[in-house]
Amino acid sequence: MRILITNDDGVHAPGLAALLKRVSEVAEVVVVAPDREQSAVGHALTLHHPLRAAHISQNVFSVDGTPTDCVNLGIHSLLSFRPDLVISGVNRGANVGDDVTYSGTVAAALEATLMGIPAIAVSLVTQGAGDNFDAAAACAARLALTVFEKGLPPDTFLNVNVPDLAAEHLKAPLITSQGKRSYEGTIVDKVDPRGRNYYWIGTADLSFRDIPGTDFHAVSRGHVSITPLHIDLTNYASIEMLKGWQVR
Ligand code: MN
Repeated sequence: MRILITNDDGVHAPGLAALLKRVSEVAEVVVVAPDREQSAVGHALTLHHPLRAAHISQNVFSVDGTPTDCVNLGIHSLLSFRPDLVISGVNRGANVGDDVTYSGTVAAALEATLMGIPAIAVSLVTQGAGDNFDAAAACAARLALTVFEKGLPPDTFLNVNVPDLAAEHLKAPLITSQGKRSYEGTIVDKVDPRGRNYYWIGTADLSFRDIPGTDFHAVSRGHVSITPLHIDLTNYASIEMLKGWQVR
């Protein structure tokens, strides 16, 4: 098995090192990761300036671009092989519920899926520095073997969230659906030293609706959450209703 690893926390992130160590135990691995943190860049692709890659060590490259750029460059240029699997992570912080659309970690897995390569995004559920990247990386390595053996459904990748617990305290993985955020005031509105207003997004506590069967429900009870995601955002249930509008 040959695996491309990337992330959105940057090539020097501890979650990436943990993933490289664990996945190297079960596969041949090449890392292509952003040269700095690229969290919350979503599925951004760099088109308006050239990209540079640095060969950091034998099987590790950094790119001055986004996670999606890294998957693109890795597969189309830097790797000498087409990987059997792409793993993105281990991200510092959960990627559950509505937040997955912001996530560079998840977008890298999505990009691989667009290229027809099976992919897994892995995140550690922490609001701090994260203590148990190794346990999450070990989960990812085990899941990689299962995906390699069984394959994934078409156009589908796995979004995995692992509670920040020691391996022996993690509860069994649950297959989940994407949860829902409870949006509340998350903007800080202040005045800068030159008297101008500034705004800073994202200071509220993580708050999700506690719906059984969802990713958030699982991780908040100590379970590893595995959510199958796909690229088609169509709301099929609403198609018939909208056809009834007879829009002209
Ligand atoms: Mn991140």
